[in-house]
Amino acid sequence: MSRIRQLPIELINQIAAGEVIERPASVVKELVENSLDAGARRVEIEVEEGGARLIRVRDDGGGIVADDLPLAISAHATSKIASFDDLERVATLGFRGEALPSIASVSRFALTSRPAAQEHALRVEVDGGKPQPPRPAQHPAGTTIEVRDLFYNVPARRKFLRAERTEFGRIDELIASLALVRTQVEFRLTHNGKAVRLLRPASDEATVAVRIGDLLGEEFLQQSLRIDHAAAGLRLSGWVGLPTASRAQADQQYFYVNGRLVRDKIVAHAVRQAYADVLFHGRHPAFVLFLELDPLGVDVNVHPAKSEVRFRESRLVHDFLYRTLNDALAQTRAGSAPSIAA
Ligand code: ADP
Ligand code: MG
Repeated sequence: MSRIRQLPIELINQIAAGEVIERPASVVKELVENSLDAGARRVEIEVEEGGARLIRVRDDGGGIVADDLPLAISAHATSKIASFDDLERVATLGFRGEALPSIASVSRFALTSRPAAQEHALRVEVDGGKPQPPRPAQHPAGTTIEVRDLFYNVPARRKFLRAERTEFGRIDELIASLALVRTQVEFRLTHNGKAVRLLRPASDEATVAVRIGDLLGEEFLQQSLRIDHAAAGLRLSGWVGLPTASRAQADQQYFYVNGRLVRDKIVAHAVRQAYADVLFHGRHPAFVLFLELDPLGVDVNVHPAKSEVRFRESRLVHDFLYRTLNDALAQTRAGSAPSIAA
């Protein structure tokens, strides 16, 4: 019989990386979500070779104080929660304290950060999970994280990376999904030195519409209903695509719960039912919807990638979604009735 032994920390982090860091887009997701959690107004994402060679995320957020740098890259260390109570009410995108050490364990990683009140920035490099001592650096207030040669030390993962265009497409899609909900934040995305997206911060309903149109097309804007409905402690707002905005693929479906993009069976079922009478078989609705509810009513700690949630009162949520969407779509049917009769 083999004896039981404690695993080395680099290996623990690599195992954790296996759960959430599947491809370059997963790195971008974790880094940009950290920037948003840090209150950034501006996030710049530079990608080379689909992210396999370089991912650099720069923000103007709160930064990390010098003494906390070693913790930022340590497993199970976070500034976002401190207790079980906090976990139940978590309002940030992150809370697991695993992303940075995971990413750093499967790449050549560097973090440079300066809080506004700190005179100098510090830079810490981690090579395949082994941190070097921090050194002083030049940096404006905020944080830059560089991830080079992702999976260079995990050949099995590296081999599974798809074509550069495919990997970049996933990154672009991920940025779009964050830019749809964080409309007040400016996003810049470049690939191989070429500017791909420049999304200016929106400040009112009109500039928010500009961003939605930028990301989903003018057609979607024109062929969708703006909704905002609240009842029983639930609020649903956003854009409900009309049947004319339906698609051959389910590629314009964004559903956020308390600001987090999620995939959920209950949500999917309610949406499908609401559209059942107005869509032809095989067509997929387009929508951008934001559900807000008391954080205590939803568990976000279901899966490491945090793209799944569990509703405490799933029946209530389902019926609220179905009714709200069905009512919105019914109005359009009533509105179009005269032209059908004519
Ligand atoms: P989590 O986001 O779950 O807390 P991470 O491993 O992603 O865990 O990050 C660890 C900690 O590092 C965060 O809790 C935060 O305090 C700090 N951090 C990471 N990225 C940034 C950033 N861009 N700006 C400021 N602080 C950051
Ligand atoms: Mg995080």
